[in-house]
Amino acid sequence: MNAQHDEVLIIGGGVIGLATALALIDAGRGVRVLEAATVGSGASHGNCGTITPSHAPPLAAPGTIALGLRWMFTPDAPLYLKPRLDPGLWRWLAHFAARCNLKDWRQSTQSRSAILNDSRSRLAEWVERYGLQCEFAEEGLDYVFRQQANFDHYAKECESLREFGVVSEIFDGADYLRDEPALKPGVVGAVRFPEDARLRPDRYVAELARVVRERGGAIEENCCVDSLQDSANGVIVGTSLGPRSGSDAVIALGAWSPALARTLGIELPIQPGKGYSITYSRPSLVPRRAMVLKDRQVCVTVWESGFRLGSTMEFSGYDETLNATRLAALERGAGEYLHEPVGAVVHERWYGWRPMTWDDLPVLGRVPGKRKLWLAAGHGMLGVTMSAASGQLMADLIAGNTTAIDPAPYRMERFL
Ligand SMILES: Cc1cc2nc3c(=O)[nH]c(=O)nc-3n(C[C@H](O)[C@H](O)[C@H](O)COP(=O)(O)OP(=O)(O)OC[C@H]3O[C@@H](n4cnc5c(N)ncnc54)[C@H](O)[C@@H]3O)c2cc1C
Repeated sequence: MNAQHDEVLIIGGGVIGLATALALIDAGRGVRVLEAATVGSGASHGNCGTITPSHAPPLAAPGTIALGLRWMFTPDAPLYLKPRLDPGLWRWLAHFAARCNLKDWRQSTQSRSAILNDSRSRLAEWVERYGLQCEFAEEGLDYVFRQQANFDHYAKECESLREFGVVSEIFDGADYLRDEPALKPGVVGAVRFPEDARLRPDRYVAELARVVRERGGAIEENCCVDSLQDSANGVIVGTSLGPRSGSDAVIALGAWSPALARTLGIELPIQPGKGYSITYSRPSLVPRRAMVLKDRQVCVTVWESGFRLGSTMEFSGYDETLNATRLAALERGAGEYLHEPVGAVVHERWYGWRPMTWDDLPVLGRVPGKRKLWLAAGHGMLGVTMSAASGQLMADLIAGNTTAIDPAPYRMERFL
């Protein structure tokens, strides 16, 4: 049988694959998205939906290792490493630990802010241009603190973030509470990032898929990719629905990317960073904007259509269980801060695997040594926020156009 030929095959129908597809269509290329389940059913589904150029600092920071070790023995801690024999994980952790210093922190922060800032403005343009109905609101995001030492630490960090273009406003507890009746007394201070935003991520991916289809792109669901072969003329992809061929192929499999990359002899240093969320009907008293309850690291997102608590970073491999202790920790953390920490009806309890690289930068660009194969993965905690810039960068690289941001920091070659 002849493989069906499309211009660019996108492997993975998460937010990154779909954003890449949309930007390629905009650049005049044909696309076919191949998705093992349904579009947006991976990490892109139940995440917190915050759009946060403010989160430029990477996870690998001075002090993270000490914190991680302290939390290792606390089953409901926001950062958790399940001790196990996995050489890939230990290699990843060794690289991660080596980057917990000021120099590397600055380098990652710089490269993260370049892609985050581009993505923030591009996302707003896309929402407007394509009419994306995804409850996008440019209303900022707050970090809220009940512990003074924690507040002092972040207020100081905000000063150093100014040079990376992160704008912030500091509030003392009394002023903040006056304007935010959803919170209980005891808040000592808050930091507002007025340039952050939020959207409903499941709707965002559904809308990206709609626009891709409307503009002539093909999306095949229940189409699991298991092999890849490139030649001078293009790429042949083996799938559960038969072979597909294209001029190029993009691996955009989020946390699943390393397995397919391995078939090409590439070791992608991506670990699944498991996170959880609970989605409810909207309580009657909700915060005015998305917030992170910082002492508990619980993110609260409010939409017209619902209310979500989300958080935790657990390195436990490709573990598919829904951990009740962690879900309970979300509600307990929210209960310390909010008068109404949960909605009346639970719509969904969920986990997702963030595709975590040890330098907290995505992997965007050509597969080393392969002309027709590309990687768009490793977006960690910020794939939704980085989606528009990542999609545009991939489309520009594949089409040979000038890129809006310097692609060098995101190349796979940094790991070789
Ligand atoms: C709790 C939590 C909260 C988060 N909050 C935020 C936030 O507020 N803001 C933000 O910006 N980011 C957030 N993130 C991160 C964000 O969700 C991810 O970075 C992003 O969704 C990654 O997108 P992706 O397209 O790379 O991967 P995914 O969405 O995981 O997509 C990969 C796709 O590949 C498919 N697939 C797998 N194997 C195959 C195969 N062999 N063949 C074909 N298809 C395959 C999967 O089914 C999946 O649909 C959060 C994540 C979590 C877990």
